Amino acid sequence: MRAPLDSLAAKLDSAAIGEDIYALAAAIYPICRSITGDGVRETLRHMAKHIDLAVHEVPSGTPVFDWTVPTEWNIKEAYIANAAGERIVDFRNCNLHVLGYSAPIRARLSLSELKPHIFTLPDQPDLIPYRTSYYSERWGFCMTHRQFEALPDQDYDVVIDSGLSDGALTYGEYFHRGEADAEFLLTAHSCHPSLANDNCSGLALLTQLAARLAEHKTRYSYRFLFAPGTIGAITWLARNADGVHRIKHGLVISCVGDGGGPVYKKSRRGDTQIDRAMAHVLRHEAPQSAILDFFPYGYDERQFCAPGFDLPVGLFQRSQFGTFPEYHTSADNLDFISPEQLALSFRMIVRVIDLIESNCTFRNTSPYGEPQLGRRGLYAAIGGDKDAAAKNMAMLWVLNLSDGAHSLLDIAERAGLPFPLVAQTALLLQDNGLLTTDLGHPE
Ligand code: ZN
Repeated sequence: MRAPLDSLAAKLDSAAIGEDIYALAAAIYPICRSITGDGVRETLRHMAKHIDLAVHEVPSGTPVFDWTVPTEWNIKEAYIANAAGERIVDFRNCNLHVLGYSAPIRARLSLSELKPHIFTLPDQPDLIPYRTSYYSERWGFCMTHRQFEALPDQDYDVVIDSGLSDGALTYGEYFHRGEADAEFLLTAHSCHPSLANDNCSGLALLTQLAARLAEHKTRYSYRFLFAPGTIGAITWLARNADGVHRIKHGLVISCVGDGGGPVYKKSRRGDTQIDRAMAHVLRHEAPQSAILDFFPYGYDERQFCAPGFDLPVGLFQRSQFGTFPEYHTSADNLDFISPEQLALSFRMIVRVIDLIESNCTFRNTSPYGEPQLGRRGLYAAIGGDKDAAAKNMAMLWVLNLSDGAHSLLDIAERAGLPFPLVAQTALLLQDNGLLTTDLGHPE
Protein backbone atom coordinates (compact mmCIF):
# COMPACT_ATOMS: atom_id res chain seq x y z
CA MET A 1 0.00 0.00 0.00
CA ARG A 2 1.17 3.51 -0.84
CA ALA A 3 2.18 5.88 1.94
CA PRO A 4 -0.46 8.62 2.25
CA LEU A 5 2.08 11.45 2.18
CA ASP A 6 3.06 10.02 -1.14
CA SER A 7 -0.55 9.97 -2.25
CA LEU A 8 -1.33 9.95 -5.92
CA ALA A 9 -3.87 12.76 -5.49
CA ALA A 10 -1.14 15.05 -4.14
CA LYS A 11 1.31 14.04 -6.86
CA LEU A 12 -1.16 14.65 -9.68
CA ASP A 13 -2.25 18.04 -8.38
CA SER A 14 -0.53 21.36 -9.01
CA ALA A 15 -1.35 25.02 -8.56
CA ALA A 16 -1.65 25.43 -12.32
CA ILE A 17 -3.95 22.48 -12.96
CA GLY A 18 -7.09 24.57 -13.46
CA GLU A 19 -5.32 26.93 -15.86
CA ASP A 20 -3.82 24.01 -17.78
CA ILE A 21 -7.22 22.35 -18.23
CA TYR A 22 -8.87 25.64 -19.16
CA ALA A 23 -6.20 26.45 -21.75
CA LEU A 24 -6.75 23.13 -23.52
CA ALA A 25 -10.54 23.53 -23.35
CA ALA A 26 -10.15 27.00 -24.89
CA ALA A 27 -7.90 25.64 -27.66
CA ILE A 28 -10.43 23.03 -28.77
CA TYR A 29 -13.57 25.13 -28.14
CA PRO A 30 -13.74 26.76 -31.62
CA ILE A 31 -13.52 23.46 -33.52
CA CYS A 32 -16.65 22.17 -35.26
CA ARG A 33 -16.93 18.62 -33.95
CA SER A 34 -19.56 16.05 -34.80
CA ILE A 35 -19.85 12.28 -34.45
CA THR A 36 -17.47 11.94 -37.42
CA GLY A 37 -15.29 14.20 -39.50
CA ASP A 38 -12.22 16.40 -39.48
CA GLY A 39 -13.32 18.38 -36.41
CA VAL A 40 -12.89 15.28 -34.25
CA ARG A 41 -9.47 14.60 -35.80
CA GLU A 42 -8.34 18.19 -35.22
CA THR A 43 -9.53 17.99 -31.60
CA LEU A 44 -7.59 14.78 -31.02
CA ARG A 45 -4.48 16.39 -32.57
CA HIS A 46 -4.64 19.13 -29.92
CA MET A 47 -4.96 16.54 -27.17
CA ALA A 48 -2.10 14.49 -28.65
CA LYS A 49 0.26 17.40 -27.91
CA HIS A 50 -0.10 16.38 -24.25
CA ILE A 51 -0.44 12.59 -24.35
CA ASP A 52 0.59 9.72 -26.56
CA LEU A 53 -2.88 9.31 -28.03
CA ALA A 54 -3.73 6.36 -30.29
CA VAL A 55 -6.18 7.52 -32.95
CA HIS A 56 -8.48 4.87 -34.46
CA GLU A 57 -10.46 5.19 -37.69
CA VAL A 58 -13.42 2.84 -38.19
CA PRO A 59 -14.78 2.86 -41.76
CA SER A 60 -18.32 4.02 -42.54
CA GLY A 61 -20.61 1.05 -42.96
CA THR A 62 -18.90 -1.06 -40.30
CA PRO A 63 -21.56 -2.96 -38.34
CA VAL A 64 -21.25 -2.36 -34.58
CA PHE A 65 -23.79 -4.39 -32.61
CA ASP A 66 -27.23 -3.07 -33.62
CA TRP A 67 -25.77 0.03 -35.32
CA THR A 68 -23.70 0.88 -38.37
CA VAL A 69 -20.86 3.41 -38.46
CA PRO A 70 -22.42 6.34 -40.38
CA THR A 71 -21.14 8.25 -43.36
CA GLU A 72 -18.61 10.94 -42.48
CA TRP A 73 -19.79 14.53 -42.25
CA ASN A 74 -17.62 17.52 -43.06
CA ILE A 75 -18.52 21.13 -43.61
CA LYS A 76 -16.72 24.00 -45.35
CA GLU A 77 -19.17 26.85 -44.95
CA ALA A 78 -22.79 27.67 -44.31
CA TYR A 79 -24.78 30.87 -44.30
CA ILE A 80 -28.11 32.53 -44.89
CA ALA A 81 -27.90 35.72 -46.95
CA ASN A 82 -30.72 38.26 -47.21
CA ALA A 83 -32.00 39.92 -50.38
CA ALA A 84 -29.21 42.51 -50.13
CA GLY A 85 -26.62 39.71 -50.11
CA GLU A 86 -25.67 40.26 -46.44
CA ARG A 87 -24.97 37.12 -44.45
CA ILE A 88 -27.43 37.26 -41.56
CA VAL A 89 -26.27 33.91 -40.17
CA ASP A 90 -22.77 32.59 -40.77
CA PHE A 91 -21.23 29.30 -39.64
CA ARG A 92 -17.84 31.09 -39.46
CA ASN A 93 -19.10 33.22 -36.57
CA CYS A 94 -20.58 30.33 -34.60
CA ASN A 95 -20.64 26.68 -35.60
CA LEU A 96 -23.87 26.15 -33.61
CA HIS A 97 -25.66 28.02 -36.42
CA VAL A 98 -25.74 24.82 -38.50
CA LEU A 99 -27.86 21.81 -37.62
CA GLY A 100 -25.23 19.13 -37.00
CA TYR A 101 -24.96 16.64 -39.88
CA SER A 102 -26.91 18.94 -42.21
CA ALA A 103 -27.13 17.69 -45.77
CA PRO A 104 -25.78 20.15 -48.36
CA ILE A 105 -28.08 22.73 -49.85
CA ARG A 106 -27.74 25.73 -52.15
CA ALA A 107 -31.08 27.42 -52.84
CA ARG A 108 -33.04 30.66 -52.89
CA LEU A 109 -36.05 30.32 -50.58
CA SER A 110 -38.91 32.49 -49.43
CA LEU A 111 -39.18 33.16 -45.71
CA SER A 112 -42.05 30.68 -45.37
CA GLU A 113 -39.99 27.99 -47.13
CA LEU A 114 -36.97 28.74 -44.92
CA LYS A 115 -38.78 28.88 -41.56
CA PRO A 116 -39.36 25.11 -41.08
CA HIS A 117 -35.56 24.67 -41.30
CA ILE A 118 -34.76 27.13 -38.52
CA PHE A 119 -34.42 26.12 -34.87
CA THR A 120 -34.66 28.62 -32.01
CA LEU A 121 -35.24 28.76 -28.27
CA PRO A 122 -38.40 30.87 -27.70
CA ASP A 123 -37.85 30.74 -23.92
CA GLN A 124 -34.23 31.90 -24.21
CA PRO A 125 -34.59 34.36 -27.11
CA ASP A 126 -30.98 35.59 -27.07
CA LEU A 127 -29.30 32.17 -27.26
CA ILE A 128 -28.51 29.95 -30.22
CA PRO A 129 -29.53 26.33 -29.67
CA TYR A 130 -27.37 23.27 -30.40
CA ARG A 131 -29.24 20.80 -32.61
CA THR A 132 -28.25 17.75 -34.64
CA SER A 133 -29.87 15.29 -37.01
CA TYR A 134 -27.49 12.36 -37.31
CA TYR A 135 -29.68 9.54 -38.42
CA SER A 136 -32.28 11.18 -40.65
CA GLU A 137 -30.99 13.32 -43.50
CA ARG A 138 -32.13 16.93 -43.32
CA TRP A 139 -30.70 20.42 -43.26
CA GLY A 140 -31.22 23.34 -40.96
CA PHE A 141 -29.96 26.42 -39.19
CA CYS A 142 -30.04 27.55 -35.57
CA MET A 143 -30.38 31.18 -34.54
CA THR A 144 -31.62 33.34 -31.69
CA HIS A 145 -35.37 33.59 -31.42
CA ARG A 146 -35.05 37.37 -31.41
CA GLN A 147 -33.35 37.30 -34.81
CA PHE A 148 -35.84 34.76 -36.14
CA GLU A 149 -38.83 36.90 -35.19
CA ALA A 150 -37.33 39.96 -36.88
CA LEU A 151 -36.64 38.26 -40.23
CA PRO A 152 -38.18 40.38 -43.02
CA ASP A 153 -40.46 38.63 -45.47
CA GLN A 154 -38.16 38.34 -48.48
CA ASP A 155 -36.14 35.73 -50.36
CA TYR A 156 -33.00 34.26 -48.80
CA ASP A 157 -29.98 32.53 -50.27
CA VAL A 158 -29.27 29.44 -48.24
CA VAL A 159 -25.91 27.67 -48.51
CA ILE A 160 -24.65 24.67 -46.61
CA ASP A 161 -21.45 23.41 -48.21
CA SER A 162 -21.25 20.10 -46.39
CA GLY A 163 -20.46 16.59 -47.50
CA LEU A 164 -21.79 13.25 -46.33
CA SER A 165 -19.60 10.52 -47.75
CA ASP A 166 -17.92 7.23 -46.94
CA GLY A 167 -15.14 7.92 -44.51
CA ALA A 168 -14.61 6.88 -40.92
CA LEU A 169 -15.58 7.35 -37.32
CA THR A 170 -12.59 8.59 -35.34
CA TYR A 171 -11.85 8.01 -31.68
CA GLY A 172 -8.81 8.46 -29.47
CA GLU A 173 -7.47 6.18 -26.79
CA TYR A 174 -4.68 6.53 -24.25
CA PHE A 175 -3.51 3.64 -22.11
CA HIS A 176 -1.48 3.92 -18.92
CA ARG A 177 -0.17 0.54 -17.83
CA GLY A 178 -0.29 -0.18 -14.13
CA GLU A 179 0.91 -3.17 -12.10
CA ALA A 180 -2.39 -4.97 -12.75
CA ASP A 181 -4.26 -5.79 -15.95
CA ALA A 182 -7.41 -4.64 -14.19
CA GLU A 183 -8.49 -1.34 -15.69
CA PHE A 184 -9.98 1.96 -14.66
CA LEU A 185 -11.85 3.47 -17.63
CA LEU A 186 -12.13 7.25 -17.94
CA THR A 187 -14.08 8.56 -20.90
CA ALA A 188 -15.52 11.75 -22.35
CA HIS A 189 -17.55 12.33 -25.51
CA SER A 190 -15.87 14.16 -28.38
CA CYS A 191 -18.79 15.03 -30.65
CA HIS A 192 -20.13 18.44 -29.61
CA PRO A 193 -19.12 21.60 -31.49
CA SER A 194 -18.48 24.85 -29.59
CA LEU A 195 -19.90 23.90 -26.20
CA ALA A 196 -17.41 24.55 -23.43
CA ASN A 197 -18.85 22.72 -20.44
CA ASP A 198 -20.70 19.95 -22.26
CA ASN A 199 -17.68 18.62 -24.08
CA CYS A 200 -14.48 20.67 -23.96
CA SER A 201 -14.26 20.56 -20.16
CA GLY A 202 -14.34 16.76 -20.02
CA LEU A 203 -11.91 16.25 -22.90
CA ALA A 204 -9.44 18.78 -21.44
CA LEU A 205 -9.66 17.53 -17.86
CA LEU A 206 -9.09 13.90 -18.81
CA THR A 207 -6.22 14.80 -21.16
CA GLN A 208 -4.42 16.74 -18.41
CA LEU A 209 -5.11 13.92 -15.95
CA ALA A 210 -3.67 11.35 -18.38
CA ALA A 211 -0.60 13.52 -18.95
CA ARG A 212 0.08 13.73 -15.22
CA LEU A 213 -0.68 10.08 -14.57
CA ALA A 214 1.92 9.09 -17.17
CA GLU A 215 4.72 10.03 -14.78
CA HIS A 216 3.52 7.78 -11.96
CA LYS A 217 3.31 4.10 -11.11
CA THR A 218 -0.19 2.87 -10.41
CA ARG A 219 -1.80 -0.34 -9.27
CA TYR A 220 -4.56 -0.28 -11.89
CA SER A 221 -4.11 0.28 -15.59
CA TYR A 222 -5.92 3.37 -16.85
CA ARG A 223 -7.75 3.54 -20.16
CA PHE A 224 -8.77 6.97 -21.45
CA LEU A 225 -11.34 6.96 -24.24
CA PHE A 226 -12.37 10.00 -26.26
CA ALA A 227 -15.17 8.98 -28.60
CA PRO A 228 -18.33 10.47 -30.08
CA GLY A 229 -21.40 9.97 -27.92
CA THR A 230 -23.46 6.79 -28.32
CA ILE A 231 -22.13 5.57 -31.69
CA GLY A 232 -18.50 6.04 -30.55
CA ALA A 233 -18.97 4.14 -27.29
CA ILE A 234 -20.89 1.39 -29.09
CA THR A 235 -18.17 1.19 -31.75
CA TRP A 236 -15.44 0.96 -29.09
CA LEU A 237 -17.38 -1.70 -27.20
CA ALA A 238 -17.92 -3.71 -30.38
CA ARG A 239 -14.19 -3.67 -31.14
CA ASN A 240 -13.12 -4.37 -27.56
CA ALA A 241 -15.85 -6.66 -26.25
CA ASP A 242 -13.31 -9.37 -25.42
CA GLY A 243 -11.43 -7.11 -23.03
CA VAL A 244 -14.17 -5.26 -21.19
CA HIS A 245 -14.11 -7.75 -18.31
CA ARG A 246 -10.86 -6.04 -17.29
CA ILE A 247 -12.75 -2.81 -16.54
CA LYS A 248 -13.16 -2.86 -12.76
CA HIS A 249 -14.01 0.82 -12.33
CA GLY A 250 -15.13 3.50 -14.75
CA LEU A 251 -16.23 7.10 -14.96
CA VAL A 252 -17.88 9.03 -17.75
CA ILE A 253 -16.90 12.69 -17.37
CA SER A 254 -18.88 15.63 -18.74
CA CYS A 255 -19.82 19.18 -17.74
CA VAL A 256 -17.00 19.56 -15.20
CA GLY A 257 -16.17 23.25 -15.64
CA ASP A 258 -19.13 25.09 -14.10
CA GLY A 259 -19.83 25.87 -10.46
CA GLY A 260 -22.83 23.57 -9.95
CA GLY A 261 -23.22 20.17 -8.32
CA PRO A 262 -21.23 18.00 -8.09
CA VAL A 263 -23.55 15.26 -9.24
CA TYR A 264 -22.68 11.58 -9.45
CA LYS A 265 -24.94 9.13 -11.23
CA LYS A 266 -24.31 5.56 -10.12
CA SER A 267 -23.63 2.61 -12.36
CA ARG A 268 -26.51 0.28 -13.19
CA ARG A 269 -25.33 -2.10 -10.45
CA GLY A 270 -25.36 0.78 -7.98
CA ASP A 271 -23.14 -0.76 -5.30
CA THR A 272 -19.82 -1.15 -7.10
CA GLN A 273 -16.57 0.18 -5.70
CA ILE A 274 -16.63 3.24 -7.97
CA ASP A 275 -20.17 4.05 -6.78
CA ARG A 276 -19.13 3.76 -3.15
CA ALA A 277 -15.81 5.59 -3.63
CA MET A 278 -17.46 8.49 -5.41
CA ALA A 279 -20.24 8.75 -2.81
CA HIS A 280 -17.65 8.66 -0.02
CA VAL A 281 -15.42 11.36 -1.53
CA LEU A 282 -18.35 13.64 -2.35
CA ARG A 283 -19.90 13.22 1.11
CA HIS A 284 -16.65 14.39 2.71
CA GLU A 285 -15.47 16.93 0.13
CA ALA A 286 -18.73 18.41 -1.14
CA PRO A 287 -21.67 18.06 1.24
CA GLN A 288 -23.94 19.83 -1.27
CA SER A 289 -23.36 17.08 -3.83
CA ALA A 290 -26.10 14.83 -5.19
CA ILE A 291 -25.86 11.08 -5.73
CA LEU A 292 -28.35 9.75 -8.27
CA ASP A 293 -29.40 6.20 -8.96
CA PHE A 294 -28.79 4.90 -12.46
CA PHE A 295 -31.32 5.72 -15.16
CA PRO A 296 -30.97 4.72 -18.82
CA TYR A 297 -30.61 8.23 -20.25
CA GLY A 298 -27.62 10.57 -20.28
CA TYR A 299 -24.10 10.04 -21.60
CA ASP A 300 -22.21 6.88 -22.51
CA GLU A 301 -22.76 5.24 -19.13
CA ARG A 302 -25.89 4.10 -20.99
CA GLN A 303 -23.74 1.97 -23.29
CA PHE A 304 -21.25 0.72 -20.69
CA CYS A 305 -24.19 -0.15 -18.41
CA ALA A 306 -26.24 -1.84 -21.16
CA PRO A 307 -27.33 -5.26 -19.84
CA GLY A 308 -24.92 -7.17 -22.09
CA PHE A 309 -21.98 -5.38 -20.42
CA ASP A 310 -23.31 -4.07 -17.08
CA LEU A 311 -19.93 -2.50 -16.30
CA PRO A 312 -19.15 -0.60 -13.11
CA VAL A 313 -19.20 2.80 -14.84
CA GLY A 314 -20.86 5.93 -13.41
CA LEU A 315 -21.21 9.53 -14.56
CA PHE A 316 -19.47 12.45 -12.85
CA GLN A 317 -20.65 15.99 -13.53
CA ARG A 318 -20.82 19.36 -11.84
CA SER A 319 -24.21 20.63 -13.08
CA GLN A 320 -26.32 17.77 -14.32
CA PHE A 321 -26.97 17.68 -18.08
CA GLY A 322 -30.27 19.21 -19.14
CA THR A 323 -30.76 21.08 -15.86
CA PHE A 324 -28.74 24.26 -16.35
CA PRO A 325 -30.02 27.03 -18.63
CA GLU A 326 -26.77 27.20 -20.63
CA TYR A 327 -27.01 23.48 -21.55
CA HIS A 328 -26.92 22.88 -25.33
CA THR A 329 -26.94 26.61 -26.11
CA SER A 330 -24.47 29.28 -27.18
CA ALA A 331 -24.28 30.32 -23.49
CA ASP A 332 -22.26 27.18 -22.78
CA ASN A 333 -19.16 29.11 -23.77
CA LEU A 334 -15.71 29.81 -22.31
CA ASP A 335 -17.18 32.30 -19.82
CA PHE A 336 -19.36 29.58 -18.35
CA ILE A 337 -16.40 27.44 -17.26
CA SER A 338 -13.49 28.53 -15.09
CA PRO A 339 -10.03 27.30 -14.09
CA GLU A 340 -11.14 27.24 -10.43
CA GLN A 341 -14.08 24.92 -11.07
CA LEU A 342 -12.08 22.71 -13.44
CA ALA A 343 -9.43 22.37 -10.72
CA LEU A 344 -12.11 21.44 -8.15
CA SER A 345 -13.53 18.77 -10.46
CA PHE A 346 -10.03 17.46 -11.14
CA ARG A 347 -9.35 17.17 -7.39
CA MET A 348 -12.54 15.23 -6.75
CA ILE A 349 -11.74 12.80 -9.53
CA VAL A 350 -8.13 12.23 -8.41
CA ARG A 351 -9.30 11.68 -4.82
CA VAL A 352 -11.57 8.92 -6.07
CA ILE A 353 -8.70 7.43 -8.06
CA ASP A 354 -6.45 7.67 -5.02
CA LEU A 355 -9.06 5.94 -2.87
CA ILE A 356 -9.47 3.08 -5.30
CA GLU A 357 -5.69 2.76 -5.71
CA SER A 358 -5.20 2.58 -1.92
CA ASN A 359 -8.22 0.52 -0.93
CA CYS A 360 -7.22 -2.87 0.42
CA THR A 361 -8.10 -5.35 3.15
CA PHE A 362 -6.02 -6.07 6.24
CA ARG A 363 -6.13 -8.58 9.07
CA ASN A 364 -5.54 -7.63 12.70
CA THR A 365 -2.59 -9.71 13.96
CA SER A 366 -3.65 -9.26 17.59
CA PRO A 367 -7.40 -9.85 17.54
CA TYR A 368 -7.89 -11.26 21.04
CA GLY A 369 -9.00 -8.14 22.84
CA GLU A 370 -7.66 -4.72 21.94
CA PRO A 371 -3.90 -4.65 21.54
CA GLN A 372 -2.10 -2.46 24.07
CA LEU A 373 -1.59 0.68 22.00
CA GLY A 374 0.09 2.78 24.71
CA ARG A 375 2.87 0.20 25.12
CA ARG A 376 3.64 0.59 21.41
CA GLY A 377 3.64 4.37 21.66
CA LEU A 378 0.66 4.60 19.32
CA TYR A 379 -1.36 6.93 21.51
CA ALA A 380 1.79 8.98 22.07
CA ALA A 381 2.41 9.09 18.36
CA ILE A 382 -0.65 11.22 17.94
CA GLY A 383 -0.88 12.90 21.34
CA GLY A 384 -1.52 16.62 21.43
CA ASP A 385 -2.84 16.61 17.90
CA LYS A 386 -6.09 18.55 17.59
CA ASP A 387 -7.48 15.72 15.50
CA ALA A 388 -6.39 13.18 18.12
CA ALA A 389 -9.92 12.02 18.90
CA ALA A 390 -10.66 11.21 15.26
CA LYS A 391 -7.29 9.51 14.89
CA ASN A 392 -7.92 7.39 17.99
CA MET A 393 -11.34 6.39 16.68
CA ALA A 394 -9.81 5.53 13.32
CA MET A 395 -7.28 3.29 15.04
CA LEU A 396 -9.97 1.48 17.02
CA TRP A 397 -12.21 1.05 13.97
CA VAL A 398 -9.38 -0.22 11.76
CA LEU A 399 -8.26 -2.73 14.39
CA ASN A 400 -11.80 -3.90 15.04
CA LEU A 401 -12.93 -4.31 11.43
CA SER A 402 -9.67 -5.58 9.96
CA ASP A 403 -10.75 -9.21 10.07
CA GLY A 404 -9.81 -10.00 6.51
CA ALA A 405 -13.35 -9.34 5.32
CA HIS A 406 -13.61 -5.53 5.47
CA SER A 407 -11.74 -3.20 3.14
CA LEU A 408 -10.50 0.21 4.22
CA LEU A 409 -13.46 1.72 2.34
CA ASP A 410 -15.85 -0.54 4.29
CA ILE A 411 -14.23 0.74 7.49
CA ALA A 412 -14.31 4.41 6.44
CA GLU A 413 -18.01 4.10 5.56
CA ARG A 414 -18.92 2.31 8.78
CA ALA A 415 -16.89 4.69 10.95
CA GLY A 416 -18.04 7.82 9.14
CA LEU A 417 -14.41 8.89 8.83
CA PRO A 418 -12.64 10.23 5.74
CA PHE A 419 -10.85 7.52 3.79
CA PRO A 420 -7.40 9.20 3.88
CA LEU A 421 -7.44 9.16 7.71
CA VAL A 422 -8.41 5.49 7.77
CA ALA A 423 -5.74 4.60 5.21
CA GLN A 424 -3.06 6.59 7.05
CA THR A 425 -4.02 4.87 10.32
CA ALA A 426 -3.84 1.45 8.69
CA LEU A 427 -0.30 2.19 7.54
CA LEU A 428 0.72 3.23 11.04
CA LEU A 429 -0.73 0.01 12.46
CA GLN A 430 0.91 -2.05 9.73
CA ASP A 431 4.28 -0.45 10.54
CA ASN A 432 3.75 -1.52 14.14
CA GLY A 433 3.02 -5.11 13.18
CA LEU A 434 -0.65 -4.94 14.16
CA LEU A 435 -2.01 -5.35 10.64
CA THR A 436 -1.08 -7.68 7.86
CA THR A 437 -2.26 -8.06 4.30
CA ASP A 438 -1.95 -11.82 4.71
CA LEU A 439 -5.63 -12.61 4.99
CA GLY A 440 -5.25 -16.19 6.32
CA HIS A 441 -7.50 -16.54 9.35
CA PRO A 442 -5.81 -16.65 12.78
CA GLU A 443 -6.29 -19.98 14.62
ZN1 ZN B 1 -24.63 17.25 -24.85
